[in-house]
Amino acid sequence: MSRYSVWQVLKNGFTGQTGWSRVWRDPEPKPHYDVIVIGGGGHGLATAYYLARNHGIRNAAVIERGWIGGGNVGRNTTIVRSNYMIPGNTEFYEFSVKLWEQLSHELNYNVMFSQRGQLSLFHSPAGRDAAARRANIMRSNGIDAELLTRDQVRSRVPHLDFSDSARFPIHGAVLQRRAGTARHDAVAWGYARAADRLGVDILQNCEVTGFIREAGRVVGVETARGEIRADRIGLAVAGSTSHVARLAGLDNLPIESHKLQAFVSEPLKPLLDMVVAFAGVGGGHGYISQSDKGGMVFGGDLDLYPSYAQKGNLPVVEEVAAMARMLMPCLGRVRLLRHWAGIMDMSMDGSPFICRTPIDGLYLNAGWCYGGFKATPASGWCFAHTIANQAPHDLNARFTLDRYAAGLAIDEKGAGPTPKAH
Ligand SMILES: Cc1cc2nc3c(=O)[nH]c(=O)nc-3n(C[C@H](O)[C@H](O)[C@H](O)COP(=O)(O)OP(=O)(O)OC[C@H]3O[C@@H](n4cnc5c(N)ncnc54)[C@H](O)[C@@H]3O)c2cc1C
Repeated sequence: MSRYSVWQVLKNGFTGQTGWSRVWRDPEPKPHYDVIVIGGGGHGLATAYYLARNHGIRNAAVIERGWIGGGNVGRNTTIVRSNYMIPGNTEFYEFSVKLWEQLSHELNYNVMFSQRGQLSLFHSPAGRDAAARRANIMRSNGIDAELLTRDQVRSRVPHLDFSDSARFPIHGAVLQRRAGTARHDAVAWGYARAADRLGVDILQNCEVTGFIREAGRVVGVETARGEIRADRIGLAVAGSTSHVARLAGLDNLPIESHKLQAFVSEPLKPLLDMVVAFAGVGGGHGYISQSDKGGMVFGGDLDLYPSYAQKGNLPVVEEVAAMARMLMPCLGRVRLLRHWAGIMDMSMDGSPFICRTPIDGLYLNAGWCYGGFKATPASGWCFAHTIANQAPHDLNARFTLDRYAAGLAIDEKGAGPTPKAH
């Protein structure tokens, strides 16, 4: 497979676009692999890529129920940031942003990472205190953060509601300049192509329906395309974690599946060149950015009941539209183009798991809640390390399954063990 380059674009431009090869192969499953990663989302594909690239494990496969990019990796609002405060999270997410900064070159695939900056608004003096605390913690950990006044926010995003009648008056914001967005499908395709180039088999339309266990150890999977054996198996199935883990005999995981919806408007001329996040007033929560095609991309909160339904509903449309209209009144007459949902694997403290499990040979990557897209590169890096070395990387040493039993929850929001509060 050839590398993408300006030379290839020119050559193919003059030869009728006939010189491009398949982006990844469509191989038949082998009877045995060194490692199988279940789940062809961002995390599974990144794991397979780093297994091959960092650890030389090329006899590996990613097993995907549907098609690459059909899960949450292709359904999210694409925000990448590292504005975390708690040890464990801070260094992990900052490492991820650093990997994002090199990702297009690393994968030889344009993931359209755009460091346009994120503004996290605050709306009261108490909100300013909390924001200053967060910004100070970020800076003391070497992560960029700036506290902006109301006027500084206004000069950057004049369309926000600065009127006297604003429902939530804007007092200022924390700016993380290195935060931004990326093209979600491209992340899946870029990792898939790069992993395939290193010899990893990507097996689509291959649902895992059971596990093969021998002497207490998992030694393979039953799939829609037959039995496939492996020395080690990694689980990276996001919202389906509880279901698939149960097939392996791993029950009662501290995860609930909840639905999160996203929305995109008709395309507009350039209006917003940053990500704007609104949080925490009266339990409200929302974020807006503008895609490269011009659509305004919105997100809000979870539906407040557990669900596996991957579709939207009208009460949340109303709630998120009201949030967007409240923040940027000029959006009031913009038409909604599409909305959709994904299933979140909500952990009890809002932080993830990248760890071994009590079942020999089975490794877990889960609990990403609604923040897993930005974690994709670091998650793949650390999960690959954990599987290859059968021991965690320093960056994921705290993301264990038994942390609740040990009283070591990573409770970033201080919200306690309530999935929908994270
Ligand atoms: C609406 C929405 C907005 C979001 N916004 C953001 C955001 O702005 N920033 C951010 O950082 N995060 C965001 N997220 C969260 C982020 O998308 C997820 O945390 C992350 O994508 C999950 O990891 P993944 O990409 O590996 O998951 P997925 O893409 O869901 O991959 C899991 C895969 O496992 C497969 N699978 C399931 N069961 C089986 C089986 N039995 N056999 C084989 N394969 C199976 C699925 O088909 C799926 O493809 C958002 C999510 C949603 C839904």
